[in-house]
Amino acid sequence: MTGPDIRFVDLDTEHETHRRDIDTAIAAVIDSGAFILGPEVERFERNFATYCTTGHAVGVDSGFSALELLLLAHGIGAGDEVITSANTFHSTVRAIEATGATPVLVDAEPRYRNIDPEAIAAAVTPATRAVLPVHLYGHPADMAAIGSVAADHDLVVLEDACQAHGARCHGRRAGSLGDGAAFSFYPAKNLGALGDGGMAVTDHDTVDHRLRLLRNLGSEVKYHHEISGFNRRLDTIHAAVLDVKLGHLDDANRARRLVAERYRDALAGVPGLGLPAEADWAEAVYHLYVVETADRTALAEDLAAAGIPTGIHYPVPIHLQPAFAHLGHAAGAFPVAEALADTVLSLPMHPYLSEDQVARVAEVVSGSLTGRGALSASHG
Ligand SMILES: *Cc1c(COP(=O)(O)O)cnc(C)c1O
Repeated sequence: MTGPDIRFVDLDTEHETHRRDIDTAIAAVIDSGAFILGPEVERFERNFATYCTTGHAVGVDSGFSALELLLLAHGIGAGDEVITSANTFHSTVRAIEATGATPVLVDAEPRYRNIDPEAIAAAVTPATRAVLPVHLYGHPADMAAIGSVAADHDLVVLEDACQAHGARCHGRRAGSLGDGAAFSFYPAKNLGALGDGGMAVTDHDTVDHRLRLLRNLGSEVKYHHEISGFNRRLDTIHAAVLDVKLGHLDDANRARRLVAERYRDALAGVPGLGLPAEADWAEAVYHLYVVETADRTALAEDLAAAGIPTGIHYPVPIHLQPAFAHLGHAAGAFPVAEALADTVLSLPMHPYLSEDQVARVAEVVSGSLTGRGALSASHG
């Protein structure tokens, strides 16, 4: 089969499509001579807050910083515990530690692969201050259930929305579902910069003020420093480019959802294959399209032989990473997260994947799992 390459992500086409507007935005920043904060950052913050339906948005240099500063802005640090999912990307947990607080891991639920709300209640101690659910792969965590556990125990709820720009839970946008949220603009995220970037969003005026101080050396007025802060600002040039891309985010997410629907139609009923479920209260934005199979290695090899790239998100659960050995969890501690690490495979997913390309991926997947992998690949 000929035709354009099937890519895992496709930033080239996105940038070609919007190249003129991106170039104009970059040129305007260069011409302005203002590269740190300023009106471009303020405009993007306003537009992103409006998009998320939150009162405030504070641009920072990464998703990691957004998580860390959001926790600090809530006064969370040494001696506090923050509950999060064992099935997430490294940064969620590492950002909690960076504040001095202790991450408390709980297992995921197998259906949507997000934090298990029932496990949260069981992990609460007198030191618990916050819960940090992750909308993994772009599917929102069960924020209604999490909110009710949090209310019972007087916990702050902060979203790791780094994979969920534009997702909805009960009709409301990711970012507006708790006390605050962290977004990443890492290039391959649903909204990506030409480098690193991030955003913390909140409805609380005091949290907004603290975030602005924390990202800028504790300073609001130049050379006057109210609190201990950091240099974690969002670069102006990134804000200008992100503001262009924000205008196309809903279209891109709609395209991702169409790809997911086509995968679902084409792959339903393939033996030994688990497909991502979408809750009736959720509108997922498919940062990744993650299937599950016991034959992951064979499936990835058959796809590679057919020229189709795949990924594993993530191969080792948080508690079994050497970097988190000090948390003291042995294998078997979080069976759902461990089973997922052994069985998940991410198929190509981006807004420009054509109907034919999805059909081709599905053909190879289905051939592999029904024992015709070698044949299908050799004809690829
Ligand atoms: C990408 C990501 C982060 C970190 O974002 P960076 O911008 O790379 O620092 C945190 N949490 C999750 C779930 C992510 O996917």
